[in-house]
Amino acid sequence: MHELSLTQNLLEIALQNAGDKRIVRVNLLMGELSDEREESIQFYWDDIAKGTLAEKAVLHFQRVQAEMKCLDCETVFHPTEIVAACPSCRSHRLTLVSGDDVKLESIDVE
Ligand SMILES: [Zn+2]
Repeated sequence: MHELSLTQNLLEIALQNAGDKRIVRVNLLMGELSDEREESIQFYWDDIAKGTLAEKAVLHFQRVQAEMKCLDCETVFHPTEIVAACPSCRSHRLTLVSGDDVKLESIDVE
């Protein structure tokens, strides 16, 4: 059900940005580590957007690289190994900055 609440979030933000215009296309940034499926999000969108200005909007997904940050030296890098270490100081105290979520980048309205 995670995809449903995610889609509801995205729809809300899109509608807020659209004002009273009809949304034709929604551009989304999808982190490479995200496990949401594009077709599920479009499926939920078609369902919950019915009757709103976002009805029939086409979702466009762009894959974006994940980013990790080292908690010891603050280096930000793209993890290429499954168990990553900081490329600068080899620390394993890392935090994921982005890459496991889906964000709204922009919307096209008419
Ligand atoms: Zn480091």
